[in-house]
Amino acid sequence: MIAEVIVDVAAYPIDRPFDYLVPPNWESVIEPGSRVKVPFGPRKVLGYITGLKADSDLDMTKLKPIDELIDLEPVISKELLHLSKWLANETLSYEIDALQVMLPAAMRAKYEKFIVVQREELIDNENFVKLIAGRKRVPMKEAVAAGFVNLLKKYVEQGAIVVDTVVRQQTSLKKERVIQIADADTLREVQKTIHANARKQAELLVWMMDHAGESVRAKDLLEQSGIQPAVLKAVIEKGAATEKLEEVYREPTAPQLKDTPIPLSLTEEQRHAVEAVTDSMDKGQAETFLLHGVTGSGKTEVYLQAIKRVLEKGQEAIVLVPEISLTPQMTSRFIERFGSLVAVMHSGLSAGEKYDEWRKISRGEVKVVVGARSAIFAPFENLGIIILDEEHESSYKQEEPPRYHARDVAIKRAEYYGCPVILGSATPSLESYARASKRVYTLLTLSHRAKQQAMPAVTVVDMREELKSGNRSMFSVPLAEAIGQRIQRREQIVLFLNKRGFSSFVLCRDCGTVVECPNCDISLTYHRAYEQLKCHYCGHEEPVPLQCPQCESEHIRFFGTGTQKAEEEIAKLFPEARVLRMDVDTTRQKGSHERLLRQFSEGKADILLGTQMIAKGLDFPRITLVGVLAADTTLHLADFRAAEKTFQLMTQVSGRAGRHELPGEVFIQTYSPEHYAIELAKSQNYEPFYQLEMAARKQYGYPPFYFITLVQFSHEDVLKVADFAEKGARFLRDNLSPETVMIGPTAAAISRVNNRYRYQCLIKYKKEPKLIETLQQLIRYYRTDWIKSGLTMTVDVEPTSIF
Ligand code: ADP
Ligand code: ZN
Ligand code: ZN
Repeated sequence: MIAEVIVDVAAYPIDRPFDYLVPPNWESVIEPGSRVKVPFGPRKVLGYITGLKADSDLDMTKLKPIDELIDLEPVISKELLHLSKWLANETLSYEIDALQVMLPAAMRAKYEKFIVVQREELIDNENFVKLIAGRKRVPMKEAVAAGFVNLLKKYVEQGAIVVDTVVRQQTSLKKERVIQIADADTLREVQKTIHANARKQAELLVWMMDHAGESVRAKDLLEQSGIQPAVLKAVIEKGAATEKLEEVYREPTAPQLKDTPIPLSLTEEQRHAVEAVTDSMDKGQAETFLLHGVTGSGKTEVYLQAIKRVLEKGQEAIVLVPEISLTPQMTSRFIERFGSLVAVMHSGLSAGEKYDEWRKISRGEVKVVVGARSAIFAPFENLGIIILDEEHESSYKQEEPPRYHARDVAIKRAEYYGCPVILGSATPSLESYARASKRVYTLLTLSHRAKQQAMPAVTVVDMREELKSGNRSMFSVPLAEAIGQRIQRREQIVLFLNKRGFSSFVLCRDCGTVVECPNCDISLTYHRAYEQLKCHYCGHEEPVPLQCPQCESEHIRFFGTGTQKAEEEIAKLFPEARVLRMDVDTTRQKGSHERLLRQFSEGKADILLGTQMIAKGLDFPRITLVGVLAADTTLHLADFRAAEKTFQLMTQVSGRAGRHELPGEVFIQTYSPEHYAIELAKSQNYEPFYQLEMAARKQYGYPPFYFITLVQFSHEDVLKVADFAEKGARFLRDNLSPETVMIGPTAAAISRVNNRYRYQCLIKYKKEPKLIETLQQLIRYYRTDWIKSGLTMTVDVEPTSIF
């Protein structure tokens, strides 16, 4: 038997499976989707079996055998194997990358396998019993060497043993000490042996008498009996109890915020949406729905009730949220409704925690996964629905290989299972709304807020006027007044500033010089905490200059409005206000988002001041005022999506106000109040925004009227990179259809990063049947030849930005 194996050697120019011999005793066990260790050149590498066959086209006598079978059960299902091929092709990435992205990182790393005996009584093979020799953990190697492969598989299936992967010692199955307390008679015997002045030991034995025969977690025992570990150890040595290690799952810290656990009775619009989805589900259709619901319209309740139906049918659900650590409220609503059937997967989990969640899914112990982008690959085998909340978010696109969009993967998986996909948003991406208009997706609309609250009143404040009238503060007069009022009324305020250290660059007030990174063409960001300037692209750091490098003026200082600066200004204007600041700097620690949000929900602060991360998901009854300190930063991004992003952001933040009984008010401060993205965000009016923005996209030939693919080149040598970019562009021009537009090669918007020069070609097309094939050929040139000269080339099909 021959196995086709994709090996973990991503730099290898040829991206295809290699043939290996399957050792005879594994033939009945081995399955596609299992990991193996194989010889590759002088090394041993990890590989994935993608196929099995009787013969090889190659000289069979020259084939090498597989070295080790890592998984007795496949870790990648047939469906996901198939998906990985599609993914590699669509995103022009290595198959190995497409396979690895589906598994938790712990399964890619260095590992060692152990057999852990779970139920000794089921082990009926005498030789196997001998091999184990009473041990609880036996290196898997020993069992394989002794030829027990088939038996191992049987025992795993029966639950007699589990196979534990020890990954660099830190992400193994988590074990907990469990104390098995002896029976009452034994305890009485032990009691007699205890020395009169060993009072603590005597006390513990009295406690144990009450729990004779029970097994308790050591942690609980110590807590309940209130004794020291040393005392426990002493009585264990005397025979009052035995101690063992049991497998437990690492529980990720569950968010603690509250919501209604019983299903709500639906509004008319919600009911219609749920029915449309469940009807489609019952017909076994792979239909994609775009759920366009204004903020506060109760999209989550629609998801929850659709999932309820899925669970009743014995199927599983995937729910994607943009960045889960930022939406603890959303997560907690799923946990409250579906309890332990929910697994949570997000970037804040440790490698071990992720591995645990993955195993729960893979063993079918949970039925709902709530997670960020990569949760789209959750190893379910009977999917009933896939939901993408806030479908317009750019975090659904992975920026490194494989450069996939979770929406495309969702639709692909749903096709396989014949199940619906729901894309939910208050501000759908232009792409999705355009597809819904063409009936490629089914549009479902929630136009009213679930509790009939009015949409918040939005005021746009012209900051130019403020400046003219002598107000140099970052707070306009009307916003400052509104804040003062709310503080008096003990209502809550959300203030929004985008991006960390937004425009807190260092500027000379005499000559206008901005201090830039010596490696990249962008300004350095001022970090107050350690009086340093930092480059967010390459990490370059330098002290704040005391003099302007150009004109030697001493009037050089940081300018603008980072969250720290805003915090200081609030402290000056409203000394009595309690402020919580939420940005990358205050949320670096695990669980800090949840902690800050909990403090805010418990009313421990008046003002929540933050970046993007507070734009989504916040739902607190006492928020009655939202302020956007400067809408201009997103509006002036060098990106064709700038207007769309601004509209989305303004709508999202505005949606945080007045979601409950108290009416909400919103202030948007800007230097461009007449821009349509701002005007229409003011009325939260999606449809006219969509029409205007589509007209603009059409005029300039941007998506969704055209597709774009971005090919970027970088090299230390500016002449070399220009040369390769030219070669690449010529090749593309010669091989793509004449209707396809090629822009470039041009220097990229950020033309130098980390001392590497960047060039790019932009391919624009409506239909380009030869695209994938041509790009694959280009990539082949790159991998076999160009790469040797230090060039880096990346291909991004439908990129989220074109920097
Ligand atoms: P969205 O995600 O569309 O912005 P949410 O799902 O967060 O809106 O719902 C907004 C608020 O309305 C939440 O507090 C939610 O509990 C409540 N809600 C949703 N549906 C209903 C309903 N049918 N009846 C009463 N309240 C509801
Ligand atoms: Zn100067
Ligand atoms: Zn830099």
